[in-house]
Amino acid sequence: MAWFKKQRKPIEPPDKQSRVPEGLWVKCPSCSQIIYNKDLAASLSVCTKCAHHFRLSAAERLKTLFDGAWQEYDNGLTSTDPLKFSDTKPYHKRLDASIAATGMKDAVITATGPINGIETSVAAMEYSFIGGSMGVVVGEKITRAIERAIDRRLPVIIVSCSGGARMMEGALSLMQMAKISGALARLDRARLPYISVLTDPTTGGVTASFAMLGDVNIAEPKALIGFAGPRVIEQTIRQTLPEGFQRSEFLLAHGMLDLIVDRREMKATIGRLLHLFIDRPAPPETPALTAAAADAAAGPPA
Ligand SMILES: [Zn+2]
Repeated sequence: MAWFKKQRKPIEPPDKQSRVPEGLWVKCPSCSQIIYNKDLAASLSVCTKCAHHFRLSAAERLKTLFDGAWQEYDNGLTSTDPLKFSDTKPYHKRLDASIAATGMKDAVITATGPINGIETSVAAMEYSFIGGSMGVVVGEKITRAIERAIDRRLPVIIVSCSGGARMMEGALSLMQMAKISGALARLDRARLPYISVLTDPTTGGVTASFAMLGDVNIAEPKALIGFAGPRVIEQTIRQTLPEGFQRSEFLLAHGMLDLIVDRREMKATIGRLLHLFIDRPAPPETPALTAAAADAAAGPPA
């Protein structure tokens, strides 16, 4: 008989069926707080303890911005894989997998609908579709959203959440930077406002084009915003990068952003800005302005 032979059976793992149903609770990656899923949805996917902003899907984003129903456009556009590109797997297979996983045809939803009563053209990017990357379809849909706004005299909001241009479409994806920027220039000439909302992450060709071209550039707290990754920059300039580099707060302090707004305040802030740009009185549901309006109506104290 061997001296070190295991005599006893290993302890049986506890009942495999967990009593907590899957997906009912979420752990905050920032403060480790366990949050009930419904509570998280009620706070627009912001941690109620530490205000960590969880990533939103494009559809969830539109829900947080519009007053109610919206009209979606161009949702049938798909990439034709113009370069017949293949890396670890063929690009058309990647596209099929993303279409099956997200139920979307590409990485952006474009829609029109009211925000605080003002009809607005909005494009929201979807990170789970090949990293929210901008290919020909994303470029075309955003450009059409801007042109639609010019035709109908609407303000434009683009919510960026993207790893940059889509390398599987090569130079064609880079051309979208110029195409969208050109459309934004026409919007500017038509004297219509464009608000850019930068969320985690906004990088590469998206930062280098439309994300930074807003009349107002608003970011969510602690969002990663940059062009190249920190490692590439360090190797190029041969310097150590400062703490918090490429986060919203750093960019605000260095003049690259106008505002950092908590997601729970985003709709109210954008609503106020739209009323300011469009030069229309704000509706009564904005509390700060209601108080001011009530004061004005009451007149000076007797
Ligand atoms: Zn947290």
